[in-house]
Amino acid sequence: MTIGGLIFEPLMAMEKNQQRKRVWIIANRLPFTIEHNDSNELTIRRSSGGLVNALTSYYEQASIDVDKYWVGVADCTPQVWEKEIIPYTKDDKVKFHPIFVDEHDYENYYSGFCNATIWPLFHYFPTKVEYHEAYWEAYEKVNRNFAEQLIPSLQPGDLVWIHDYQLMLLPALLREQVADLSIGFFLHIPFPSYELFRMLPQLWKKSIAEGLLGADLIGFHTYEYVQHFIQSMKMVLGVENTFHKIHYQNREVYAELFPLGIDYAKFSEKAVSEEVTEKVNFLKNEFRDKKIIFSVDRLDYSKGFMQRLNGWENFLQEYPEWKEKVVFLIIIVPSRDTIDSYQEMKSAIEEKIGTINGRYGTITWQPIHYQYRHLSFDNLIALYRHADVALITPLRDGMNLVAKEFIASQVNGKGVLVLSELAGAAVELNESLLVNPFDTIAVSDAIHRALSLPLEERIQRNRIMQDRLLHYDVIQWINDFVDQLDLVTSSRNQRKANALNLLDLFVKRYQSAAHRIFLIDYDGTLAPITNYPKDAIPTEAVKNVLRKLASQPNTKVVVISGRPADTLETWLGDLPITLVAEHGSIIKDGKNKWLDTLNLSPLWKSQVMPIMQTFVSRCIGSFVEEKKNTIAWHYRNTLPGVGFDRSRELINNLNILLQNTPLQVIDGNKVVEVKPTGYDKGTMAVRLCQQFQADFVCCLGDDTTDEDMFIALNEDAITIKVKEVHTNAKYFLPKQSDVITFLESFIH
Ligand code: UDP
Repeated sequence: MTIGGLIFEPLMAMEKNQQRKRVWIIANRLPFTIEHNDSNELTIRRSSGGLVNALTSYYEQASIDVDKYWVGVADCTPQVWEKEIIPYTKDDKVKFHPIFVDEHDYENYYSGFCNATIWPLFHYFPTKVEYHEAYWEAYEKVNRNFAEQLIPSLQPGDLVWIHDYQLMLLPALLREQVADLSIGFFLHIPFPSYELFRMLPQLWKKSIAEGLLGADLIGFHTYEYVQHFIQSMKMVLGVENTFHKIHYQNREVYAELFPLGIDYAKFSEKAVSEEVTEKVNFLKNEFRDKKIIFSVDRLDYSKGFMQRLNGWENFLQEYPEWKEKVVFLIIIVPSRDTIDSYQEMKSAIEEKIGTINGRYGTITWQPIHYQYRHLSFDNLIALYRHADVALITPLRDGMNLVAKEFIASQVNGKGVLVLSELAGAAVELNESLLVNPFDTIAVSDAIHRALSLPLEERIQRNRIMQDRLLHYDVIQWINDFVDQLDLVTSSRNQRKANALNLLDLFVKRYQSAAHRIFLIDYDGTLAPITNYPKDAIPTEAVKNVLRKLASQPNTKVVVISGRPADTLETWLGDLPITLVAEHGSIIKDGKNKWLDTLNLSPLWKSQVMPIMQTFVSRCIGSFVEEKKNTIAWHYRNTLPGVGFDRSRELINNLNILLQNTPLQVIDGNKVVEVKPTGYDKGTMAVRLCQQFQADFVCCLGDDTTDEDMFIALNEDAITIKVKEVHTNAKYFLPKQSDVITFLESFIH
């Protein structure tokens, strides 16, 4: 249980953890590949690529005083690992932690669920999505393999940073087993709109949502992905959020924006190096007076090769003045080409390239030069530096690092970036020529415009983008993420520490008081919120704690609720406590009878009821509850966005109708209620405190109507909101289940 001060220190102002001791990067693969060559000798190849480069740069920072671990699937047996890899990696600054996975499971997990289900769905290719139970089972199993093989090495306080769509179940699996981990998750691909995410079967999408929300902090490349994620969590799990903070299982999970940067210095410095300059001179010599357009992408349908080739063909057709003056270098980096459909895609691309070259080429000129291969780093940078135009037009891309690397390598500022507006990088590279990759004419026009752009304008555009990329480079990205994760965790720990001190203080005040009163709301405070009000029956534990508390000397316990009197009577009528129903209008004090303090005519209800009924018809899942003195429209079981929108409309209608009447509208927790004015929980609470001459007042509540008590009660009262939201209470308890433990602290 934690109880904290109402005025939280803003996240940014919280003290950072003293010294990070252990950081775990967890990704699908380790940053090297273990292979056997033709003579069956073991070879170890260091991997490249966006994520590996980024995290290696981070771990290479000498200033970071941490134990660094990298966890990923090892493509070898445990024996080979022991014998070959441990000696090979012994001098690395990073300790590698292998995960061993059954080969068949790995295939169904990686080529199956990861790349045939999640990848196409999250990249907006729903028709390519494969739905196979065996894929899902393997995905679950491999995520569990990670958890099981890692957990024995984890310690409370460790920072764990999980990467990407292959491991979306892992955050929750780790949280369940290891206390006090700081868990971050970063998604390197887009998070799609809910309309796509909902296409997953219920169990899959629910498990993925629950898995991800096991993290403390979830990072995305763009603001849109954050919004899509929050919306999907709301729709799938019914969670609520306050801006980027998702309230889930009595924890807070932060969904935040961290656009992945590049190692800017590495690219800009390499671009002017001797070895790259030599390669640039070679390219100059090779292509002489011709302008160079290039693209470098992994083989993947999301990269939009065919659409790009259509754009290029249209350009050749529409702008014949460029004939023999420009060459398009297409580099496709091998990827997933053991999958049949990728092989088919490769053949189709090569055929199309052949057709274009055949149709538009001349004896001395080929419009497209094509290579299917990995490029060395030096060759890649030489290409970036020498090219006149980079044509990067994926149909969808989580970020696209090639675009950023190209800009960083423009040492003389002359290259022009033509970039798909559907790549995550487009948000930060706004000064490039942005195109819709599906729009053949737009792509072709953009190529022409890029080739014709005056040098001054090119330099100006590049300098703005370079400045941006320099300031938010990959190290900044990593530090930003890790700092935020630290802040989230340290704020949680800080509150825990404060809680213990505060509780001690409260108990001391209670013990020295002559007359003690507890004013406790029911729903959301003593009982969790349920979909239907009738299901929120009190547990024996709740009844016991109320009974024991009330039997302490000079202690009065009041349950003060918006519920009708008969419900409170049925559920709590046998306890030696005071019950207050309908927000303070009806009371049963100890053994006395129920007393309606209002006795108002119910005539007003006939005006309000038809409006509420109309909203029941207009909003599926909502219903009306009629009480003695109030009428309530509940919308807890409606679609998240819809219920809220309708509730705003209803409140508006009611406010107009009830102007200048002795009735008021309460905007509650998933409920809109109309009640007569002139009384509320606050007035009743004050009256009870005075009657009892209480010199110790403790008041707990979670809803709008409880705010009336928090405002009305004396300054000395301990007022506690059971939820971390803006409130008039002085303290908060983050979760409903903490309430019993809190009340038990006063029983001796
Ligand atoms: N890259 C590489 N070898 C190559 C060509 C490119 O390692 O032969 C790198 C490139 O520098 C970039 C990454 O691969 O950092 C590709 O990242 P991007 O975000 O552009 O696309 P992804 O492959 O992640 O979809």
